[in-house]
Formats: sequence, structure tokens, C-alpha cells
Amino acid sequence: MTMPYQREKETVIRAVTAASNLLKSIQNNIKRSIQKEDRTPVTVADYGSQAIICKIINDAFPKDPIVAEEDSRELSKPEHAEILSQVTHHVNASTPRVSPEEVCQWIDLGAGSISRRYWTLDPIDGTKGYLRGDQYAIALALIEEGTVKLGALGCPNIILDTHRGGKGQGGIFVAVRGQGAVQFDIGGGSGKKIRVSNINSPPQALLTESLEPAHSDHRLNLELAKKLGISRPPLRMDSQAKYAILARGEASIYVRVPSPQTPDYREKIWDHAAGSILVEEAGGRVTDALDRGLDFTCGKTLEKNYGIVVTNGWLHSTVVNALGPLLP
Ligand code: AMP
Ligand code: MG
Repeated sequence: MTMPYQREKETVIRAVTAASNLLKSIQNNIKRSIQKEDRTPVTVADYGSQAIICKIINDAFPKDPIVAEEDSRELSKPEHAEILSQVTHHVNASTPRVSPEEVCQWIDLGAGSISRRYWTLDPIDGTKGYLRGDQYAIALALIEEGTVKLGALGCPNIILDTHRGGKGQGGIFVAVRGQGAVQFDIGGGSGKKIRVSNINSPPQALLTESLEPAHSDHRLNLELAKKLGISRPPLRMDSQAKYAILARGEASIYVRVPSPQTPDYREKIWDHAAGSILVEEAGGRVTDALDRGLDFTCGKTLEKNYGIVVTNGWLHSTVVNALGPLLP
């Protein structure tokens, strides 16, 4: 008997593995990035990852729309021909004889719209972390009727066995609704079930937050930690790797409230869909700062939510209650 979403799960693991290998192989060779309209950087690697993943998902599920972070508008301009040729070269390593035009078409398979069933993709979450050689993630999720049903995070720089130390092979984290959360070695293998921590006393909890002060309110988190009696400094890292380490019990609280520089920022669906199901299936809870469930039906942003609170579940109401009076 096959489990529900078995074919989706196999396809996602194949897609995220292929993208992880591409990203690892070119990490030390990224020379240039393009500035997008919102002034964030996008590199050869973001485009290559999106092209490969969209192609694999589209081949397997041609009717499903994909809502992805990047598009080929900038890339196909004549002044970026050299970058497009590099993207094509790297995509060719996994799928030979692809033309630059096809690469752009594959990237633009990610221009789908929100519907009853859709995929959402961040080809590199934490591009700045990737460029620095720190944490980053490939984040892919399937949403049906507004609920995330399956999510996968590729985290090529995460350490799999923390007791061994050193930089690991990297991991792929996969969760299917109702089937738990599993961590795989990027190289393959059968995978290992992961669970959140069972810490129920806030002072023992480790809080994780974005490394970028522009992406969340660090001062507010400091006040929150003080109020909860947490004396350990927060663990700062880029990308949804934060969700992964919370899902496997290393951190117990992740709070993300818009930074004072961008108070009206609304979170993007691809920055939270895969991470949120991973934590939920590992036994934790994910809401916004006002304890509301995340609403994936509004478009590319979580328009009806404000901020994000992720915990191991045991600490959720304590954190949300302590946070409330601190919100702007
Ligand atoms: P992190 O690595 O946790 O800092 O999150 C990276 C993500 O932050 C990127 O994928 C962006 O989509 C998102 N982002 C960009 N600008 C902002 C902002 N002003 N506030 C919150 N998140 C942002
Ligand atoms: Mg992102």
C-alpha cells in the first residue's frame, strides 16, 4: 500500500537533492549577483536552483501551478547574457543540452498563481547566508485548500550529527501532513524521524532568530528573552534552517516580528510554508505574533498575518502571552 503523497514526496526529494548538489558545486564560484527591484541580490545559483526544481515538479505534476520567488525578467536582458550563459552551463550539468531560452522557460514555470492546489518555492532562502558560506535553504512546499500538505528543506550547510562537529554533508528535511518529519543525509539513506524538544521551562529554551537585523526586530527579541528569563544569547542564522534546528530539538523558540525599519513588511509564503509543516509534524506549533494560524490563501504574502512565532508547542502560549504587550 502506498502512503498518501508518496509520489509527491519522492519527487520533492529528487528535486531538492538535485538543487542542493548544484548549489554546493558552485558555492565558491559566485562572482556576480543581479540587484532585483527590491534591491535584494539574486545570483546564478538562485536561477539554476529554480530552473531545475520547477522542471522536475512540472514534469511530474504538469497541472500544478508553482509560485516561486524568482523570474527571468532581469536575467533575459542583454546586459545579463553572461550570467544566463553561466546558469545554462550549470543546469546542463544535470540536464544536458538545455538552451538558454529553455532555462528561462523553466525558471518562469514558477510564475503560477495561488489556487486550490499549488507549490511554492524559494530556490535559495537566505541568499546572503549562501554568499557568506553560512546557512541557507532550498524550500519547497505543496499547499492544498490553504493547508501545507508537504514541505521539504534542503540545508546543504547544516551539521547532521551535532556530536561529530565540523561542517556536515548537509541534510534534507521532509514532512508530510500526518506522517511526521524526517531528516535525510543529502547523499541518500533511509532518513531519521525528528522531534521538537520537550523543554517546558522558558529559561532553559534556546531562542533562534534571523541574522539580519533588517528581517526581524532583534531588540524586541532581547526584551522577550529577558521577560522569559532566558539568559543564553539568541542563536542567529539565515534561512529556514532555523525551522529545521527547532524541529529537531536544538532550539525551542523562533520569533520574527517586522523590524522597525520595515514595520509593514508581510512575510512571503515561500519563506514559511516548508518550515512550518516541518515543525508541526515534529510536534511543535507555528502561528503569527497574535497566535493566529498562517493563512496561505491570500497570494504571495501572508497578508492576514503579522510576524511569526514558532515553538516546540509546550512553550507556545507562554511565548505568545509574553510577546503581546511588547508588540508595537
Ligand atoms: P532570514 O534568512 O531568516 O533573515 O530570512 C530571509 C528572508 O527574509 C528572505 O527570503 C526574504 O524573503 C525575507 N525578507 C526580505 N526583506 C524582509 C524584511 N524587511 N523583513 C522580513 N523578512 C524579509
Ligand atoms: Mg527566502
